[in-house]
Amino acid sequence: MRRVLTAATTALTLTTAGTMLAGTPGQAAPTGWGRPVVSAAPQPGAPGLGDSYFPDYGNGGYDVEHYDVRLRYEPATDLLTGTTTILATATGDLSTFNLDFLLDVESVRVNGWAASTSTAGAHELVVTPARTVTRGQQLTIVVRYSGVPSETLVNGYTGWTRTDDGALAVNEPESAWWWFPSNDHPLDKATYDISVSVPTGVEVISNGVQPRPPLAEAGNRTRWIWRTTSPTATYLAFMAIGQYDIVTDTTPSGQPVINAYSTSLGALGPAARASIERTAEIVDWESGIFGPYPFEAQGGVAGPVDGISFALETQTRPVYGPGFWRRGANTYVVTHELAHQWFGDSVSVADWRNIWLNEGFASYAEWLWSEEQGEGTAQEVFDFTYASYPADDEFWQVLPGDPGAARVFDNAVYDRGAMTLHQLRLAVGDDAFFEILPTWTAERRYGNGTIEQFQALAERISGLDLDDLFTTWLFTAGRPDVASAARKAAPPAEPRSWAKIRESHHLMSH
Ligand SMILES: [Zn+2]
Repeated sequence: MRRVLTAATTALTLTTAGTMLAGTPGQAAPTGWGRPVVSAAPQPGAPGLGDSYFPDYGNGGYDVEHYDVRLRYEPATDLLTGTTTILATATGDLSTFNLDFLLDVESVRVNGWAASTSTAGAHELVVTPARTVTRGQQLTIVVRYSGVPSETLVNGYTGWTRTDDGALAVNEPESAWWWFPSNDHPLDKATYDISVSVPTGVEVISNGVQPRPPLAEAGNRTRWIWRTTSPTATYLAFMAIGQYDIVTDTTPSGQPVINAYSTSLGALGPAARASIERTAEIVDWESGIFGPYPFEAQGGVAGPVDGISFALETQTRPVYGPGFWRRGANTYVVTHELAHQWFGDSVSVADWRNIWLNEGFASYAEWLWSEEQGEGTAQEVFDFTYASYPADDEFWQVLPGDPGAARVFDNAVYDRGAMTLHQLRLAVGDDAFFEILPTWTAERRYGNGTIEQFQALAERISGLDLDDLFTTWLFTAGRPDVASAARKAAPPAEPRSWAKIRESHHLMSH
């Protein structure tokens, strides 16, 4: 995952009336006697959703159902022009509302009427509609814009990666700012139509399926068309633009598989294929543990040598940096990113503080895969991981359950996060543990969750009070005592899977 914009991006207009709406976007009017006789004056929509770590991410006052992102991209100059049409519902009476966006806006229309705009904070586009928006109103918001995303910086940073032959719009937790205006928080998921016109000969890969083949356009251009029909968090929408070999297939269960490999990979290409082409097999194996695969398509994108160094679980089709293939095929990173399709994508964090629900689970999936592959049991990986961090290592000072905004992708969230799940498994037993996982993904499918809700589910299924376990492993600094490992006289042997798991986590975390 990752690449996180930390720093104080939250100066903002948090002292405006909008703050009053944060977290309660649907409560603008009193209830009890049907429609109030006198409604309150329209309010500005909140500039953020009050996230613990990123309070200005997302916006209050409306809920998005669908994004139609129609773009034109020039690899030679990194110029991106486009029109995004947002279908949303107002959740309050609004005088203004915000979108999270950075590029230059040419015009905004709300239900056909031209709106005025201004900017605020680090990434806020403030829209003032010509007419007051009323609660429950269906909104069609059309934003026309252009910009050079690689040169559009926030605190010196861009989440857009320009490459020799194109670009990658792949980042967490902020990605959309550089290519489409949005309500940028996992609490507001939507479906997507994404289409991009590029010079003919350039490929564009995105989420979901291709409802029709690429279309020839005037000027020796081609428009690539992608559709996502499952609810998708904004940071899980992506584009990979450049020179790719595309491999398509169908799984035994009838799902379309679309994989893409950057032609820049050279000698790394075969290892990338030997890993990503096992996607359907790994999804099938994970479905037996986590519950039915939640989405309409599968795949993976092997990014170029000058692209991202990490990997991201972009929905239906993770994107992998080239470093994962340097030691040969690596199915551990594929297992990790595909596990996120359940843990992170279908069930998303309700607040970025809950990042353990993503990374702890995807990392533990690697341990289960190690056991399945005969390269070390989960217990052996636990013992070795635990022993590999001395008690005085700074690693143990990071709390996986509340790492802080600057450390959401700290190694502790991954490794201690996976250790936490192993301890839970030992405490509740395999029967309960392997009932908890698919129950969690079923009950919160396409929604959001918190650590507290996961603990409550684990307690409900196991019948145990797990407060000590969660407090010790997720919320207490220092290395917890573990009798089985501590008693070992000799250091545990290194599992055969360890080198690849460690290398993957090194690239994914920081
Ligand atoms: Zn991950």
